[in-house]
Amino acid sequence: MAVVRMPEKTIFERIISREIPAKIVFEDDHCLAFHDAHPQAPVHVLLIPRKPIPSLEDVVSDDAEVLGHLLSVVPQLTKMLSLTGGYRVVINCGQNGGQTVDHLHLHVLGGRPLSWPPG
Ligand code: 5GP
Repeated sequence: MAVVRMPEKTIFERIISREIPAKIVFEDDHCLAFHDAHPQAPVHVLLIPRKPIPSLEDVVSDDAEVLGHLLSVVPQLTKMLSLTGGYRVVINCGQNGGQTVDHLHLHVLGGRPLSWPPG
């Protein structure tokens, strides 16, 4: 009998399903935000869609609504996090982009001046 293998869940899917813990700061029907385990700034939150889109490269036109929703959540989130002095939103994509988790995510970074360009 053929064995049907289910694709492995990413860490972020396990956070969504509460299989592994995370410091969740916001959630609604379409997305979830939680503190990064290895913060690169005083505030470093990851904002992810519940839909497991692997990367920005995999986005299709049907995803426009959820992507727009993610961006619309950012100002709510940054107010909650008191990022009054500004912040940066980053999406790493693919190997050269430094993506390590194959579930689309926005990094929301702030709490100190951030240099440019990034490394
Ligand atoms: P990427 O490098 O893919 O753009 O970002 C992945 C981010 O996920 C990294 O900043 C990394 O620190 C964070 N991360 C990886 N594993 C976990 C985890 O189990 N919990 C949390 N909260 N963040 C994680």
